Amino acid sequence: MSERETPDDERPYECDLCDDRFATREELKDHVWEYHEMDGDVPP
Ligand SMILES: [Zn+2]
Repeated sequence: MSERETPDDERPYECDLCDDRFATREELKDHVWEYHEMDGDVPP
């Protein structure tokens, strides 16, 4: 069983900068910050 294969339905938040998907907006924001060093749409 692979942990990386999660149905898209459970991860509606897709990163605009790569193919990663997230279940919550907060996870997506954290990802963008850590991996792309940008802020999505919410200022700190
Ligand atoms: Zn990304």
